[in-house]
Amino acid sequence: MKNIVALVTGGNRGIGAKCIEEFAKLGVNVIINYCHHEEEARDLEKYIKETYKVKALAIKCDVSNSDEVEKMANTIVDMFGGIDILVNNAGISRDSLLLDKSIKDFKRILDVNLIGTYLCSKYIGKIMLEQKQGKIINISSTNAIDTFYPESCDYDASKAGVLSLTHNFAREFAPFVSVNCICPGWVKTGMNKELSLEQINEEKKKILLGRFAEPEEIAKVVIFLASSKASYINDSVIRVDGGKYNG
Ligand code: NDP
Repeated sequence: MKNIVALVTGGNRGIGAKCIEEFAKLGVNVIINYCHHEEEARDLEKYIKETYKVKALAIKCDVSNSDEVEKMANTIVDMFGGIDILVNNAGISRDSLLLDKSIKDFKRILDVNLIGTYLCSKYIGKIMLEQKQGKIINISSTNAIDTFYPESCDYDASKAGVLSLTHNFAREFAPFVSVNCICPGWVKTGMNKELSLEQINEEKKKILLGRFAEPEEIAKVVIFLASSKASYINDSVIRVDGGKYNG
């Protein structure tokens, strides 16, 4: 995958950082989008350049802010001349009892997870359409399909919206840009740092493989969808959850 450019939103840590590294291993030039953790993003940028000898650029951008996303898209065209792959990975969760949720918190989840995916697909997708080629991979969640906990109803709604955006953008951008979606189950990242050992053990019992995923196990599916091996896969939703059932 030489001379290819990939943008991963929320690329500074967790699943996003593993996507960045897996792309770089293949010689892909990478753009590491982040929102709050600048040092983490700069450290990753340096590590990727030194280790894999590809171009790497960390860009601060709140994906829920239309002006910032448009500016990020313009910077990418100026610095890389175009873009081949977009991974809409940036996401947040904030669990609390359904009746206790503030509208402000609820909207923030929708803004980042759903509106962020929309804005990046819109502005980066425009560039891909002009190029007449590109691949968009959205990171949703099994919570988009199954209902596990009312505490994450805002997150679940945002991720169900990401499924809908996948299908709509796939139609809008066909036949030039493929749009696919991955629904991970539990993954070992900072997003789950609040879980107690007891909760983790309870959740593992509901997974056929009996464990949470390593972030690279999600990243490898992203790489597959971005590669020519997935040339006939479009408008698809793939669960990567180790066989998780809604118990
Ligand atoms: P992490 O909490 O480890 O990372 C989240 C990433 O999103 C960070 O890089 C963060 O950047 C970025 N981010 C947050 N808000 C914004 C914003 N407004 N604009 C741009 N970037 C932002 O999470 P994971 O790696 O676990 O999650 C990655 C994706 O996978 C998410 O969409 C999540 O919903 C999904 N997922 C995760 C699962 C899990 O069990 N971990 C399961 C199913 C889906 P910064 O640090 O700079 O804020």
